[in-house]
Amino acid sequence: MATKTFDAVVIGAGPGGYVAAIRLAQLGKKVGLVEKESLGGVCLNWGCIPSKALIAAANLVEDVRGAAERGILAESPRVDVAKLREFKNGVVKKLVGGVGQLEKGNGVEVVKGTARFTGPTSIEVSGGAEPLRLEAPAFILATGAKSIEIPGFAFDGKDVWSAREAVDLPEVPKRLVVIGGGIIGLELGTVYAKLGSQVTFLEALPQILTGIDPEAVRLVQKGLRQRGATVHVGAKAKGYERKGGALVVSAEVDGKPLAVECDKILVAVGMRPTVEGLGLEAAGVKVGPKGFVEVDAQYRTNVPSIFAIGDISGGPLLAHKASKEGEIAAEVIAGHKSARDWVAMPGAIFCDPEVSAVGLSEEGARKAGYEPITGKFAFAALGRAIAMDHTEGFVKVVGDKASKLLLGVTICGPEASDLIAEAALALEMGAYLEDVALTVHAHPTLSEAFMEACKAALGEAIHALNRPERPRKDAVKA
Ligand code: NAD
Repeated sequence: MATKTFDAVVIGAGPGGYVAAIRLAQLGKKVGLVEKESLGGVCLNWGCIPSKALIAAANLVEDVRGAAERGILAESPRVDVAKLREFKNGVVKKLVGGVGQLEKGNGVEVVKGTARFTGPTSIEVSGGAEPLRLEAPAFILATGAKSIEIPGFAFDGKDVWSAREAVDLPEVPKRLVVIGGGIIGLELGTVYAKLGSQVTFLEALPQILTGIDPEAVRLVQKGLRQRGATVHVGAKAKGYERKGGALVVSAEVDGKPLAVECDKILVAVGMRPTVEGLGLEAAGVKVGPKGFVEVDAQYRTNVPSIFAIGDISGGPLLAHKASKEGEIAAEVIAGHKSARDWVAMPGAIFCDPEVSAVGLSEEGARKAGYEPITGKFAFAALGRAIAMDHTEGFVKVVGDKASKLLLGVTICGPEASDLIAEAALALEMGAYLEDVALTVHAHPTLSEAFMEACKAALGEAIHALNRPERPRKDAVKA
């Protein structure tokens, strides 16, 4: 078996691993990047990116359906599933190609195949052009996570889909049951509802999107209802059987049986770290009780030569978190004093309306020992949102009553996933409510809602009445 030697080897080329490899190369290291499937990992190939291509297309269908209200007369839209799939695949191909160019341009050697540790400073790679032994004084594990399978719903890619099959858009089923009212279930369930499926969500907990602002959840649920979807909470899916041409999912809702007929089932009940087959035992890497690899603030495992970043090391399973961690681990390997030091880790859910958040919620602020004050601004009172005919939702800010420090922001509404970036910057820079309130925001833009919400928290909103003790009747910002 041939042996290659590197300064550092990254295992897994998702948004954590491919970024780590680039950063290592920038810092002058000779880098190997091992990937068994496709550059970009789940995010680019079967997750964030293709799902966003589908979401954008599904939004277009919906916009066309509602266009007549704005005086645009279009035929009622039909979906060419094969063409839409082709578009989505094209988006993926472009980005995967881009990552390949970046790795090459930075001098990273991409090694195709499956890695397995043979010791703390060596791996074997199989399944590629030839079996290889790679040696390096530093390794970064970035193998991500995969969908959890639950009893009674083995993924078969035919009747029971994981997110990966659902994103591939094999068809638009007439009736779809989504098991799990978490982020993936909501994002993909919304896509299929917009494309024409009748969607039923089964969520085991008392609310969908656990941990998200309840007011935002109410709006998301209202949006689902308007699209003909049904949401059952407190609903534990038990199993399914084929009856005639249909599938019948059985569930227990608050102790009572429920049967839902459908044509396909999407199971999205969480992810588990991809650790099997990596030979972690051979390297001596410690795995925690939930299967995630344990790391310190510099992403070093218990084995000094091995780092772990992204989903495999736990925390919120977010692509941008993985990328950030990849940069930090690369810098540590290159001898820098980097460590986990961020204040703001934004999250965005691409349902309808979109929901995003960063920092502390009001309850979280209280738990952290602050006396919180809040300010809210409704998109229904914002000129740009009204002009776009997307007025659902709000921006809500949380601040510290004593110091007026900005502590957290939740956005529910149009472009919430983009708008959260300003809030993340404000938190990272240690902004006070006043800093945002005094910053001139271009008019007419959706971003004005953040400024107005900060003003509202200070009792100085211009386009809403400042009566915090009573329900506010928002005026319209022309
Ligand atoms: P999740 O943890 O967000 O939600 C899973 C849901 O399934 C939970 O609400 C849980 O109560 C429910 N559930 C579990 N077992 C059930 C059962 N038997 N019957 C009914 N409901 C059941 O997990 P996910 O949606 O699969 O997403 C996986 C991970 O990927 C998450 O950590 C998420 O943060 C991440 N992700 C993030 C984004 C984004 O940031 N936009 C997008 C996709 C995925």
